Amino acid sequence: MTNHKYKLQELQQLDAAHYLHPFTDHKELRNAGSRMIVRGEGPFIYDSEGTEILDAMAGLWCVNIGYGRDELADVAAEQMREMPYYNSFFKCATPSPVQLSAKIAEIAPPNIEQVFFGSSGSESNDTALRLVRHYWALEGKPEKNIIISRQNAYHGSTVAGASLGGMSHMHKQLGGAVPNIVHVMAPYAYELAEPGESDEAFGLRAARTIEDAILAAGADKVAAFIGEPIMGAGGVKIPPASYWPEVQRICKKYDILLMLDEVITGYGRTGEWFAATTFGIEADTITTAKALTSGYQPLSALLVGERIAKTLVEKGGEFYHGYTYSGHPVCCAVGLKNIEIIEEEGLVDRVRNDTGPYLAEQLAKRIAVHPLVGETRSVGLMGGIEIVKDKADRSRFQPGGSAATKVRDHAIANGLMIRATDDTLIMSPPLIWTRETIDLAFDRLLVALDLAEAELA
Ligand code: PLP
Repeated sequence: MTNHKYKLQELQQLDAAHYLHPFTDHKELRNAGSRMIVRGEGPFIYDSEGTEILDAMAGLWCVNIGYGRDELADVAAEQMREMPYYNSFFKCATPSPVQLSAKIAEIAPPNIEQVFFGSSGSESNDTALRLVRHYWALEGKPEKNIIISRQNAYHGSTVAGASLGGMSHMHKQLGGAVPNIVHVMAPYAYELAEPGESDEAFGLRAARTIEDAILAAGADKVAAFIGEPIMGAGGVKIPPASYWPEVQRICKKYDILLMLDEVITGYGRTGEWFAATTFGIEADTITTAKALTSGYQPLSALLVGERIAKTLVEKGGEFYHGYTYSGHPVCCAVGLKNIEIIEEEGLVDRVRNDTGPYLAEQLAKRIAVHPLVGETRSVGLMGGIEIVKDKADRSRFQPGGSAATKVRDHAIANGLMIRATDDTLIMSPPLIWTRETIDLAFDRLLVALDLAEAELA
């Protein structure tokens, strides 16, 4: 049913004239025109023309409790009426960030003690970068300031976020990245493993590129390693089981801090509150955002482990860093309620015990067997699907990325919002999805795969 509240053409004209979209080719957008998404309910979004679309991306990896939750709207309205904003500078605080930081510390891995709030994942990675360098300076080692990251990592789009990230096209537009950040190999076995190399051996080899970088720079110059437990925007690249234990061993051996970026994986996506638990990683910082409020408010939280927390308190001295909206009371009230809902509805357990295993099973049974699909992989409710020309030699259609984009476009036209990055389709649905929702998504995806196959033949 068309939503008459919005006039599509009028909005498209205003959009083209005034609204610069993120990560967009504006020439292309002007020719195509935007689809106006005007409403959401549970796992579905609706455009201005009334089209229903099943959202396999939870917005942008964030709407974990689904759309249209009155509980979050009510709590935001209540907090706005009582105290819409006050800062946490100058030895002041409001109750909700205090309560939320305590709640996060309760559900986080045991070594996490403190929380620093921002408004986005990018901002919190800026905070993380500043904080680990500040830590080493407080410890009397300011020269220990190199951060090791990975090619194709995504850590956000501020100057520091893009510098930490390993996306070469973003680096090119930076015109000068934050200094002292180096990038090593991504643990992406599907493309980077040698023929015949086992997953385990590849995982160790990928981890040891971090050791090579430490030895090249000198351990006394390296502050930290940063990584997403599963590389998300880079294509849901799930590292082999041997990878993270080896990274942890290397960080410990050379006294390098371990920074995790859980902006996507935090708050239940992998079937644990944090992927640190899924992979058995003990991190010194964990960047989180997105699902902290299920995307209902812009809020991020940098979780800080006891090692850094202890130094900050014992050594003292002002950390010259913070944002007007650090600990925004409305965002934090929404975050608290969102975590309460995830707990009450048992969504993390459901992902671990039911929908996560079911997604993996159905990917293997229904999707991996399609002629266009080279591999499927998932952890919890986060999945990747490799689109290939030839399953046996893993070759791709040319130009690179075009085939996955074709499948994605058919999927969206067929009522399934899924994303393509290079030749990988990626999905990260709301945690409220059930087995039936997964079935519906794959019914629609299979239609899209068949249509794309016919066109690519
Ligand atoms: N880190 C990771 C792993 C992300 O996936 C993202 C966004 O997708 C970010 C950081 C940046 O978060 P934001 O877009 O909120 O700045």
